[in-house]
Amino acid sequence: MRILVIEDEPKIAQAVKKGLEIKGYLVDTVFDSDTGYSYAKDSAYDLIVLDRMLPGSRDGIKICQDLRKENISTPIIMLTARGTIGDRVDGLNSGADDYLIKPFSFDELTARVRALLRRPKQSVGTILKVADLTLDPINYTVTRANKKILLTNKEFVLLEYFMHHPNQVITKEMIINHVWNEEADVLMNTIEVYIGYLRNKLDRPFKKLKPLIETRRGFGYILNSK
Ligand code: CA
Repeated sequence: MRILVIEDEPKIAQAVKKGLEIKGYLVDTVFDSDTGYSYAKDSAYDLIVLDRMLPGSRDGIKICQDLRKENISTPIIMLTARGTIGDRVDGLNSGADDYLIKPFSFDELTARVRALLRRPKQSVGTILKVADLTLDPINYTVTRANKKILLTNKEFVLLEYFMHHPNQVITKEMIINHVWNEEADVLMNTIEVYIGYLRNKLDRPFKKLKPLIETRRGFGYILNSK
């Protein structure tokens, strides 16, 4: 899951980035509103953490409004130093999904992030389930047919992305956009290699069960729940 942090205070931006990365998210940080707006508009992020007061031609409220006008529905958590009722209403009216008042605790931020990322899917609790596969994004555990599977960090993030979109064709571009961050220079081959790693762990040891990862040649991959 990729998160964009738009925050001009370097200390806060760094702390949020570090903390979210420890939780397994991929994080890009930008420090002014213009760069922030263009990143938010042009890249595929799963969530945006947006400071309300920013240098540049827009404030956080305006970024929200303009993104929503462009039909970009990426969930947005707004960070605000002020906490009056009026400010909260402004933030939510502008199209933000949630807001946090500075100073905030990191646990609260991650709880909100998790809640928002979960919102469109009708999952029960926090554990993702597809067929006989389960993934627990809080304890970083994966099981298939009740057997524990050990994944590397990258494999875990890749599988989590698939599990949020079961039975859909996932292209290599989608994988690159959602599973690697802007700094990474990823080749198409790299994706094949990682899909291979997942198959080795999820499908190969379970020969009696139906393979979960299917290739749609020329299109991409499907995590099949049927
Ligand atoms: Ca600020």
